[in-house]
Amino acid sequence: MPTLFSRIIAREIPADIVYEDEHVVAFRDIDPKAPVHILIVPRQEIAGVAELPDSGDHQHLLNAARRIAEQEGLVDGYRLVINQGPGAGQTVDHLHMHLLGGRPLGWPPG
Ligand code: 5GP
Repeated sequence: MPTLFSRIIAREIPADIVYEDEHVVAFRDIDPKAPVHILIVPRQEIAGVAELPDSGDHQHLLNAARRIAEQEGLVDGYRLVINQGPGAGQTVDHLHMHLLGGRPLGWPPG
């Protein structure tokens, strides 16, 4: 069964896609926690950080994040988050990086 995010990547489920290249697809979170809240997803189905192969599409997540942050005009800064496992709040078992910005971001996160 394809993951929820693979179905978004395949355009089977609608989403506001803001960026894509041969390795990753990025779209706005359906339940945003900041004015800018984008999920950056490798095309490759990797369940999470705990299952990362040595190489693959996930190696392009950071470069995509930089490009999207520039595209979104996040000149004051932004935060990149990956939740690994239920204890950290991971709810979709397809690796994804949250890009959050557009408001002051407290530290430490909850
Ligand atoms: P996690 O909790 O696994 O780190 O992040 C999963 C994220 O996916 C959540 O922030 C949630 O709001 C988002 N999400 C869940 N289902 C959908 C969906 O169908 N479309 C979009 N755009 N985001 C979703």
